[in-house]
Amino acid sequence: MPDSVHIVGGGLAGSEAAWQLARAGIPVVLHEMRPVRGTEAHVTARLAELVCSNSFRSDDAEHNAVGLLHEEMRRLGSLVMGSADAHRVPAGGALAVDREGFSAAVEQALLAHPLVTLVREEVAGLPPPEWGSTIVATGPLTSPALARAVAALTGAESLAFFDAIAPIVVRDSIDFAKAWYQSRYDKGSGTDYINLPLTRDEYEAFVEALLAGERHLPKDWEGTPFFEGCLPIEVMAERGRRTLAFGPMKPIGLTDPRAAPGRRAYAVAQLRQDNALGTLYNMVGFQTMLKHGEQTRIFRALPGLENAEFARLGGMHRNTFINSPRLLDRALRLKARPDLRFAGQITGCEGYVESACIGLLAGRFAAAERLGREMAPPPPTTALGALLAHITGGARAETYQPMNVTFGLFPELPAAPDERGRETHGRERKRQFALRARADLAAWMAGDALLAAQ
Ligand SMILES: Cc1cc2nc3c(=O)[nH]c(=O)nc-3n(C[C@H](O)[C@H](O)[C@H](O)COP(=O)(O)OP(=O)(O)OC[C@H]3O[C@@H](n4cnc5c(N)ncnc54)[C@H](O)[C@@H]3O)c2cc1C
Repeated sequence: MPDSVHIVGGGLAGSEAAWQLARAGIPVVLHEMRPVRGTEAHVTARLAELVCSNSFRSDDAEHNAVGLLHEEMRRLGSLVMGSADAHRVPAGGALAVDREGFSAAVEQALLAHPLVTLVREEVAGLPPPEWGSTIVATGPLTSPALARAVAALTGAESLAFFDAIAPIVVRDSIDFAKAWYQSRYDKGSGTDYINLPLTRDEYEAFVEALLAGERHLPKDWEGTPFFEGCLPIEVMAERGRRTLAFGPMKPIGLTDPRAAPGRRAYAVAQLRQDNALGTLYNMVGFQTMLKHGEQTRIFRALPGLENAEFARLGGMHRNTFINSPRLLDRALRLKARPDLRFAGQITGCEGYVESACIGLLAGRFAAAERLGREMAPPPPTTALGALLAHITGGARAETYQPMNVTFGLFPELPAAPDERGRETHGRERKRQFALRARADLAAWMAGDALLAAQ
């Protein structure tokens, strides 16, 4: 029998990784610190506890990237998805679960599996090399001792304890009749930045809206510290009506090609390319604690963003995540110590489903390795593959922040006009992404001996 793979953390990612390994015939030792040591958010000793909402978000596999991810995970025998389906509660088009029943089902399935050993202990430092292949899936509230050890290994600048997320916009939803590409003083390549010009009236209305916008209140233990260089945009706006126009929205070095000669915008909102594919742009300096509904309303009032599709909205939370694009290889191994894989939210994915998805892939990569096989990563045209590719290299390492799965992470569709010669948009475009993903996932599974055998 092959040696055991160790997994640290029995949350969404660690539980899914353990299941995938055990299904492939590999023994697993799962180390979970609760109830010996708790976290600030978990309240039970169960594996795969849902710390907040009971929703796995949209279950629409035709038009929604997370719904598509659900479907792909089901096809790969996901324990998290199987348990969610078994404990579903009515929630319209969303997949919501009875949280007690869900976590109990995950835990019982793992405890009942003869190849899974659960050890209730904190791993208070780096897993020792003699464990061999190990998956670290300790989540956003990784215990301090392990987090310190990871920081010592990766470099403190590669491990973040808070996120500061600026909204990310799907490039194709920006109105280029108003926006234009240009880097400040024309440095860099022509497409690094997209600019949105504001008149004085537009700028003042924007600042008013920011000041009046309803904010998310962090929990006491989150104690999100604000660093001077990274203040929420609404806090910057509180410091003075013109602070933003002299800060992240300064117009200097930028020339609106549609403005009269010699005239420049009063302020400019800049968006910077966020992924190697060039499909996503983040709003520079717009990290925010405004509620999501307020962000959509206020940011869509900016010229050029009237129909913006947000791949993710901003937020600032307590978190723990490594700079995966810099540190991990395509099979989720730490380049500096390839016996260690990372999985779940600690890799910088965001959300229950995404965390479980990266756990699923880490488990499969580790299983293939133990069996002496190569596993090709899933194609980037699938939801699994798009998220994996983003985390392990597609995202900009310099500005890396947590990310949900979205069609903005997928490679563009080949330009396929409909029968009237129009490009496909909206729901039809999403359907095309899903169709391509389905076909490519099937081909990938058929080409993998281990997957095809299950
Ligand atoms: C307060 C909060 C609210 C959230 N709300 C939502 C939400 O509503 N919806 C959503 O989709 N996502 C939410 N998230 C984000 C995220 O998706 C979840 O936290 C998700 O559970 C992450 O899965 P994971 O497996 O990476 O981590 P977790 O599910 O947190 O699992 C990590 C496990 O590792 C254990 N552990 C930690 N350190 C050690 C150690 N040293 N040794 C052994 N065990 C250890 C922990 O006890 C835990 O069981 C929230 C996050 C937080 C912090």
